[in-house]
Amino acid sequence: MLTPTGSGRKKMLQGVIPGRMMQRPLLVSSLIEYGKDFHPNSEIVSRRVEGDLHRYTYAAAYRRVCQLAHGLVALGVTPGTRVATLAWNNHRHFELYYAIQGIGAVCHTVNPRLPVDQFKYVLNHADDRVLFTDLTFVPLLEARRADLPPGMKIVVMTDRAHMPESGLPDLFCFEELLVSQAEHYDWPEFDENTACALCYTSGTTGNPKGALYSHRSMVLHSLFARNADLPCFTPRAKFLPVVPLFHVNAWGLPYLAPLSGAGMVMPGPGLDGPSLFKLMDDEAVSSAWGVPTVWLGLLAEMGQHGRKPKALAHVLVGGSAVPPSMLRTFQETYGISVVHGWGMTEMSPVGSLGILEPEMEALPQEEQLRLKAYQGRRMFGVDLKIVDEDGARLPHDGEAIGELAVRGPCVVDGYFNDEPASAAAIDDEGWFRTGDVASISPDGFLMIVDRTKDLVKSGGEWISSIDLENAAMAHPEIAECAVIAAVHPKWDERPLLIVVPAAGADLAKEAVIDFLTARVAKWWLPDDVVFVDELPHGATGKVSKLTLRAQFKDYVLPTA
Ligand code: AMP
Repeated sequence: MLTPTGSGRKKMLQGVIPGRMMQRPLLVSSLIEYGKDFHPNSEIVSRRVEGDLHRYTYAAAYRRVCQLAHGLVALGVTPGTRVATLAWNNHRHFELYYAIQGIGAVCHTVNPRLPVDQFKYVLNHADDRVLFTDLTFVPLLEARRADLPPGMKIVVMTDRAHMPESGLPDLFCFEELLVSQAEHYDWPEFDENTACALCYTSGTTGNPKGALYSHRSMVLHSLFARNADLPCFTPRAKFLPVVPLFHVNAWGLPYLAPLSGAGMVMPGPGLDGPSLFKLMDDEAVSSAWGVPTVWLGLLAEMGQHGRKPKALAHVLVGGSAVPPSMLRTFQETYGISVVHGWGMTEMSPVGSLGILEPEMEALPQEEQLRLKAYQGRRMFGVDLKIVDEDGARLPHDGEAIGELAVRGPCVVDGYFNDEPASAAAIDDEGWFRTGDVASISPDGFLMIVDRTKDLVKSGGEWISSIDLENAAMAHPEIAECAVIAAVHPKWDERPLLIVVPAAGADLAKEAVIDFLTARVAKWWLPDDVVFVDELPHGATGKVSKLTLRAQFKDYVLPTA
């Protein structure tokens, strides 16, 4: 008999007997050790902030990780110490992941694009004792010196020759930390539930909230993701994380790299289309991972060249919904297979992946594209449910729409040192409330309709901002767009479409509305279309609806 205890998170089964297997902890250090032993010659290539390319093997990376671990100890880092990073995707950032976590300290990846108040909040809330920064961000730290936790040491991720002139106190040089340190580290063993990494997520209201990952959750997440039928986790593949190492563990890629032996190519600060194209082309990258906004730049560059980067076979798009028009261009124009993923900071982050079963791959192309536009099916280790406003479960019939909740060993059970936010995040059955609104088809495809906060509620009926945006993005003269709710005296809210026209486009509001009329229900049509030069992007590269809502809060619709 199953008896729920407490919130229902733990269940006791009467009559069970214990298994006789070793209790060996799942620790992050085992991933890099495995990579060094089994894939010593796979390469990590990174564009350095200093300008050149750096390349080395997993075996060489391992030696430097060990040296860095000794350097951290020499700096006073002890188990549990929060060590912040403020850095691009590069080999030193990768080394920090393993050195910090390997010695039992906590790697707090900080997003350099955070607004000033949130930046101050997260460093102080985490109580970071040491901060590692790329050269790029030294001026930012100088400007925000008063906001830094008192006594925090700062290490600049460069060599002595490139150390900046700076008035910052307690400044150290990364490469000097490693000098004459041993190339072996006897990694400590400890409880696998020990915290290893911390990443704050910026909600729509209130302070950022910290997702505190454990060694166990991180190793399991790597195994679960490796288990997904993705072509990029083999020693024959080379993947490029455009998704930053400062955002949810770069979707797990720094852990999957040594585990799978795949080569990893890191773009440093070069995230624009031309830089990405050249790096992918030169390094024969076979798979790249990032948010849709980044792919807009790459697709524009591919258009200029009239071809894809030569080895690029596979793109993973997540973080926001992939517009079907983008999906089609990748697949049909360039023959690049797209996998659409969904996840959250609180989920380590992968929740679902759009990988088709063999029988689905036999479907007509249009049908495959339709399936790929959904947010995929749950990854092993992730349970999904949708619930109505009273918390009652809704069927997975592709029709019912409700709030999505998740559970699994890689999902947070609360936030770091934030009890009110933790209590609000977990439902009565112990599931994490995602704040996404979704339906789930009988064959398990997740369809994210919106964020609860982004839905447009018109006369009590929901309008999906994502569906409207996707429909508008199919217009060849629209480069990027976003839909937000604008206040309406009769309907409470009506959709406002904000459009960035493509270069050289001559677009009128009426033409956009005409285009949409053929594609969405009449009552979904935006009440107005506003043209702008660019949309605000949040710290993770997604369109910031929060900023847009603030910008347009007093906007008066012509229908109002
Ligand atoms: P973050 O924790 O910043 O990565 O944001 C997680 C949120 O991004 C999710 O709760 C979704 O609202 C959104 N999101 C992530 N992936 C997708 C996707 N493929 N389609 C639509 N929304 C997504």
